[in-house]
Amino acid sequence: MHILVTNDDGVTAPGLFALIQELRRAGEVSILAPDHNWSASGHVKTLHRPLRVKETVLPDGSRALASDGAPSDCVALAVLGLLSEPVDVVVSGINPNANLGHDVTYSGTVTAAMEGSIWGIPSLAVSLDAPENGGGVLDYGPAARIATRIARTVAGGRLPQHTLLNVNVPYLPDDQIRGIQITRQGLRIYRDQLVRRTDPRGKPYYWIGGDAPTGVPEEGTDIGALAAGYVSITPLQLDLTSYTLIEAMRAWEWDVI
Ligand code: MN
Repeated sequence: MHILVTNDDGVTAPGLFALIQELRRAGEVSILAPDHNWSASGHVKTLHRPLRVKETVLPDGSRALASDGAPSDCVALAVLGLLSEPVDVVVSGINPNANLGHDVTYSGTVTAAMEGSIWGIPSLAVSLDAPENGGGVLDYGPAARIATRIARTVAGGRLPQHTLLNVNVPYLPDDQIRGIQITRQGLRIYRDQLVRRTDPRGKPYYWIGGDAPTGVPEEGTDIGALAAGYVSITPLQLDLTSYTLIEAMRAWEWDVI
């Protein structure tokens, strides 16, 4: 099994390093990750500048590739031919904080896995539900072990085309994680606030600030699973069509043409 690993926190992030330690037990691991942090960059395709790829050395002396492109660019580069061997599974992560509900549209971690699914490769995004601003050194071990088991499961090709898995792991020791729940996206509650300030030259600038999002821990959702101590696995699809609205909207009076 040939596993492509990427992330959105940059190639030097501890979550990526912990992930590859475990994935190497399951197969051959290639790393192509961004050279800097792209968190909350969404699904990017870089079209108007060249992409550069450099070889870099990880803390254990192993080699990885780093690109100045977005996480999704890294996946595209790898599967379009930069890696000579075909990729069997894409694993993106491990992000230090959860990606839940509407977060998936912002998340570089998740959109890297979306890119893998566009190219027909079984793909998963893995995030740890560590406390926001938890600081210090996080233990990614349990999440890395769970990600490896899920990667083995999906590499068999059971995921339909244009689908991917969004995996979120509670920040608990192995023996306190209660199991796995297959979930749907829950409702995130964003607490963003517009912050207006003035720069040293007297011009206004704006910052999207505020507190970290919360969510409704409803049973059956990703947010509910984490709150109850379970690993959340949400199957996502790239088709965002609202099928329930199609029939209703066809009956609307459309004052066009
Ligand atoms: Mn991130």
